Amino acid sequence: MFGTSGIRGVVGKDITVELALNIGAAVGEESEKLTIGRDTRTTGETLENAVAAGALSTGSKIETLGIVPTPTTARYADDKALEITASHNPSEYNGFKPFNTDGTAFNQDQRKRVEKAVKKGEINYSKEFNDEIKIEDALNSHKSEILKSVKEIENTKVVVDGGCGAASEITPKLLADMGCEVITLNCQKDGRFPGRLPEPTEENLKDLKKIVKDTDADLGIAHDGDGDRTAAIDEKGNYVEADKLLCLFAIHEKAEEVVAPVNTSSVIEHVTEVRRTKVGDVRVAQELKENGGKLGGEPSNTWIFPEQTYCPDGVLAAAKLCEIAEEGKISEKISNLPNYSVRRKNFKCEDGRKKEVMEKFKEESKNMGKITTLDGVRVDTENGWFLVRPSGTEPYIRATSEAKDKKRADKLLDMVEETLSRIL
Ligand code: MG
Repeated sequence: MFGTSGIRGVVGKDITVELALNIGAAVGEESEKLTIGRDTRTTGETLENAVAAGALSTGSKIETLGIVPTPTTARYADDKALEITASHNPSEYNGFKPFNTDGTAFNQDQRKRVEKAVKKGEINYSKEFNDEIKIEDALNSHKSEILKSVKEIENTKVVVDGGCGAASEITPKLLADMGCEVITLNCQKDGRFPGRLPEPTEENLKDLKKIVKDTDADLGIAHDGDGDRTAAIDEKGNYVEADKLLCLFAIHEKAEEVVAPVNTSSVIEHVTEVRRTKVGDVRVAQELKENGGKLGGEPSNTWIFPEQTYCPDGVLAAAKLCEIAEEGKISEKISNLPNYSVRRKNFKCEDGRKKEVMEKFKEESKNMGKITTLDGVRVDTENGWFLVRPSGTEPYIRATSEAKDKKRADKLLDMVEETLSRIL
């Protein structure tokens, strides 16, 4: 039921009011007080009411924040938090993402307990029934916390593409308060996502790229549906690759080391030391919490600044991007970084065979280079690396290769393909 990023699915099929009620009750059992927020999806309010009813029926206190980004909910909570969101998925999806007060997502034990309670109906209903407290100023509180930590801006014009998601109000207001000249795009909150799909990929940001250029802006910023992701467009209207954006953040934060997953580009190694984790922003947050660190990031455009919260905070990332743009042209900063070629390919593989295929692949790649098995099999060769890992959610084995030289990246992926085809 639980992925690392919570529970997500199509509403009416996987996500029902009954499930919301049970999740509310199960998470309520874990909480003294549950803070609930939601993104802009049209199904959000109904699911919120069901989650709230479930949590209240276990005797937990609750407070509801209305439509706010995931990091707003995580930061506002003083006990447990739950955001009703399907993040970057299209409008027909929704889901539940529970957090602890430090911004970390529920860990494996907590997820297991909630899952067990929901599946077996093992919930202790209470006769005590608290009032729902509606909070009106969560966005203001999030904004003022960030304003305390950022610099004043004098010369930056920024276009914010909220994607009609939960951060559509707070990010433009925050950046304007910092002193930026702000132009908004898709910043009307609308859970049908009429402007673009919620995932801030290069393909989905064509309008933003054009408007940044047409208005001579210094920077474009785009969020996903729940505002924990932030992508950037430079002043020339070019999409900034997330791996390079991580480099800009690392330089800006003067981070001597960053925490990033095993599939992050080697470009970061030209800027700072890297401590690698399994794939997923939840793993990055866990590593930062357990072993410290100043900055974490993931190539999905998820950024973690643990001094403020372990929850990826796209709004804070947007503010920091304006600070970076204020110091000089983003395109010039990017052009100082080396270029790598990346190749990616998915191979069909049923869930039941994944383990055996990975074992065999590991055996066969023994002589190709230095093997790491942090998540899947990563092989570092003299000039380039490849990573082969089973997808956690889909019937695929995913392969990535990277090298400075395009031909070498092709060759590495060809080697992977040849080996995998033989095994599969
Ligand atoms: Mg998200």
